[in-house]
Amino acid sequence: MTARLCLHVYATSKNVMNNEYTTPEQCSGDNTSDRPAQPDSSPATRTIHEFQYKLICEYFSHMERQGPGSPEATLRALSFIDNLTDQSRIADIGCGTGGQTMVLAQHAPGEITGLDLFPDFIAIFNRNAKRSGLQERVTGTVGSMDNLPFRQEELDLIWSEGAIYNIGFERGINEWRNYLKTGGYIAVSESVWLTDERPAEIHKFWMELYPEIDTISTKVAQIQKAGYLPVTTFILPENCWTEHYHDRQVTVQEIFLKQYAGNKTVEEFIAFQRHEAAMYRKYKAYYGYAFFIAKKITL
Ligand code: SAH
Repeated sequence: MTARLCLHVYATSKNVMNNEYTTPEQCSGDNTSDRPAQPDSSPATRTIHEFQYKLICEYFSHMERQGPGSPEATLRALSFIDNLTDQSRIADIGCGTGGQTMVLAQHAPGEITGLDLFPDFIAIFNRNAKRSGLQERVTGTVGSMDNLPFRQEELDLIWSEGAIYNIGFERGINEWRNYLKTGGYIAVSESVWLTDERPAEIHKFWMELYPEIDTISTKVAQIQKAGYLPVTTFILPENCWTEHYHDRQVTVQEIFLKQYAGNKTVEEFIAFQRHEAAMYRKYKAYYGYAFFIAKKITL
């Protein structure tokens, strides 16, 4: 998922997420052999993919967040949203283990549904909600962002940090709009180019991972075209990538390399995560994540 960046980047590069497991079972369970095989996957490739899938789940389950972000950035985005009451219905799409959802819930009224494709993340999400005493109004559910379990115009707020790339930004903002009430808000973070031009190495890196990355002005134009009033946009500060994302992977990487010593898949996976962090250090002047906040208007 690099999710935000990494989960996404690795999964995309390995083709394990969307093609192999559109509705994955628990990744830490021992029931993987019961999972229906994709018609075109041989037992050998299935085993490799299953291991990659379990690996990704396990790795990111150790982290509070599965992509760049911070409690401060979440609260800054929330500060632009003024329509919430105890009756509000909020969805956090691609919520992961719920790092940002719990921050949201502690500072906003209403009922929140967190939705994610990975059952293990949702299990952790629901444990976190309970631990924070939020289980009465915060519920995690397994599902896919391209088939949301909400009614038309049911929601007052759609939240999504570092996850909309899974169906693509433009498709996401257009489809999700149907679930929002008029006057409801969308708050999403998305990878963006910070300059009009950039070195070939970083351009190529992103084109292979997420070719829909674009400039902020292009994304804002897409928001407007989709039937929203763009309210504000801000770039996530560097510590959302370093302190809250890359730095927290260092210990997990060391543990994994010891635990799976000699395992090529694990070594390749960790090498990819490290490469992604190195690319950010080298090219952070050219790309980042931006938060987009917009309000649904009638067209
Ligand atoms: N919002 C969290 C997680 C971001 S990582 C955070 O900011 O920390 C992206 C998340 O999208 C992952 O948890 C991944 O499991 C989820 N995801 C990927 N494809 C999805 C889909 N089709 N539907 C719902 N969630 C999906």
